[in-house]
Amino acid sequence: MPELAEVELARRQWATYHGSSINSVEVHPKARIYRDCPAPALRILEGQTLLSSKAHGKRMLFTFAPALHLEVHLGMSGKLSTAPHDHLEHRHDHLILRTAKAALIFNDYRMFGRIMLHDCSDPWSDLPPQPQDSKFTLARVQNLIARHPKKPLKALLLDQNACPGIGNWMADEICWRLGLHPGTPSAQLTPASLRKEIRFVSLGALKHVAEKNTTASAEGFAPGSYVSKVPPKNWLFQHRWKKGGSCPKCRNELARDTIASRTTAWCQHCQT
Ligand SMILES: [Zn+2]
Repeated sequence: MPELAEVELARRQWATYHGSSINSVEVHPKARIYRDCPAPALRILEGQTLLSSKAHGKRMLFTFAPALHLEVHLGMSGKLSTAPHDHLEHRHDHLILRTAKAALIFNDYRMFGRIMLHDCSDPWSDLPPQPQDSKFTLARVQNLIARHPKKPLKALLLDQNACPGIGNWMADEICWRLGLHPGTPSAQLTPASLRKEIRFVSLGALKHVAEKNTTASAEGFAPGSYVSKVPPKNWLFQHRWKKGGSCPKCRNELARDTIASRTTAWCQHCQT
């Protein structure tokens, strides 16, 4: 599932066309991505200009007027891409916005993604701070731990109200850098260390994925696919995918289990 850096990379695909007018909107009305917003409502975007965009956690907001925004969630398998304006629709292209020069495409074969339209000025006014923002303070992290003392570390990291944008691979990376088992109760965490590693991995993921890649056209997100540039070999990222992968610190084979309902990789030697 795309996490904050992959979502930011996806946003940047469409952001190339800020300032472009939308000539036509093509939808698959029965696609499940329209469960929050009937597909025909998207026609309101015809004739509008894509002015700006932003990402927050795992969601994106594309602004067409002060009170007209298209919100996109990629879900499990959603992708944003662009193609020449005469792009021939692929089977899972559930939304295509065509400008004079390009087709802005939302493709999602599993359809856990979702689309929403907002007609207010700031639909994101009450979202929690993202880990990479200055508002993700030590006091905030102390408060999160105090509110969820029994919650396992990995579950706390995956809580989108606590750490928006962090998903499975980033959570494993943070646990590994902390040297803590993913099931460690939150009450045992040191707030300053937790905040430091959350921010290191969030800012590092943005740097290594969103800033170093220019396209996001292939399938999936693993070393060698979806993007050509991934976090370096001294991150857990490059080792956690494959069976028999080893810890970049101690070279012992990584352990795997299901924790917080997600496949989790960790080092039994380094993470006690
Ligand atoms: Zn290790």
